[in-house]
Amino acid sequence: MRQSQREITSDLLRRVIATATLDGYLNRTIKEGKLPLSMLTYKQLALGHPVIMNLDLMIENTCGKNCNHCFFPTSTSQVVSVQEIENWITTNSERGNLFLYPREITAIPELLPLYAEIGQTKLITHAYQLTPEMIDLFKKHGITTIMVGLHGDIDAHCAITNTSPEKYYTLLNKIKMAAKAGLTVETFFVAYSKNFFQVAKTAMLAYDLGVKQMRFLTLMPIGKALTLPDDWYLNEDQFQYFIVRVAQSREKYSPKEIYLKFDAQLGPNFFSNGIYSFFANHSTEKIDMGFQSTFFCPAVRSQFLATHWPSGKIFPCFTLTGNQEHSIGNIQTGIEAAIANNYLAVPNLDRKLQGKCSPSACPFNPICMGGCRTMAYLTAKKRGDPHPELTEMPLCLTRSLLQMLNV
Ligand code: SF4
Ligand code: SF4
Repeated sequence: MRQSQREITSDLLRRVIATATLDGYLNRTIKEGKLPLSMLTYKQLALGHPVIMNLDLMIENTCGKNCNHCFFPTSTSQVVSVQEIENWITTNSERGNLFLYPREITAIPELLPLYAEIGQTKLITHAYQLTPEMIDLFKKHGITTIMVGLHGDIDAHCAITNTSPEKYYTLLNKIKMAAKAGLTVETFFVAYSKNFFQVAKTAMLAYDLGVKQMRFLTLMPIGKALTLPDDWYLNEDQFQYFIVRVAQSREKYSPKEIYLKFDAQLGPNFFSNGIYSFFANHSTEKIDMGFQSTFFCPAVRSQFLATHWPSGKIFPCFTLTGNQEHSIGNIQTGIEAAIANNYLAVPNLDRKLQGKCSPSACPFNPICMGGCRTMAYLTAKKRGDPHPELTEMPLCLTRSLLQMLNV
């Protein structure tokens, strides 16, 4: 199985890197053609102002938990009124695809009608409070999919979520119950030093519980995680081991059985098929002119804004939400002002990225612009870097694949 993965990746590698530089590769593979307009672009043209791909409403009610990986800075029971949120939705509904993210929806079910109002069918929950009645309520309000954290075996999960062992079995039962009741259950797995080697057995567990998608990400240095020992974060060797295990597990299941997905937070995978269709439609010229590559992280395109209620602050990425020092504006002064103030935006990064993400060090720089800028920014910030927004991705999926292939 490992051999087969290597062979597949080697083949992709030959096709991508054969010419040694991105320009060479582009010259050989680009078919000139018109850039297709995305639905987002059509919407922008029709409305006459930028439309945000994802406009999150993060509502900081209490969740009753105290996870070690939680990016919310503090536990609070503060919440604004449903009416206030509804008013904002009415005024801003055309600005982007709205996504409601209360800290914990099962603690504030009165928000559920708003999901139906904005057409949102998926929600995130810790799942511990799920009951058959709650699931019925979800369905009544158009929810089809729930997303829940499942981070490995009992020891690994309880350590990262700061919960008791009994709660682990409660969680497994709740996931199973939700899947049986007809909800699509997706899980996320935050990789850290106590679980990075548990990918295969967690995928098997999730599959047995009826989970349909498992998303893999890594521990980020924000919120409560900032208090964790450094050795909880993956080092390069552990990261590579983790990636190989995810890749192997992906071969074991068809996407219909359970879809195992690398999260965008690991950086784009330039060995995936998506790169070929991208190059078939885009020219080097457009990329050099600052074309908004579809591989750019939405935060650098200012296409993913998170509003935080009730502080009223705006953040350039979901993960930064609520941590006031990372804010780029507030709801009162508006979305345009926040976009203009986005320290992670492309104009601030173009040709300025450092280390392994710099244009001279990485052939993918023009279409990648440094992977997950939030991950890079937070890691650099933690170690006190004076320009954290310009630093390299600490762990990059593509770079790890290159290293594994020894090129
Ligand atoms: S990760 Fe979710 S459940 Fe855990 S403390 Fe944060 S908001 Fe609560
Ligand atoms: S090294 Fe940086 S620029 Fe290159 S692929 Fe990885 S994240 Fe993107």
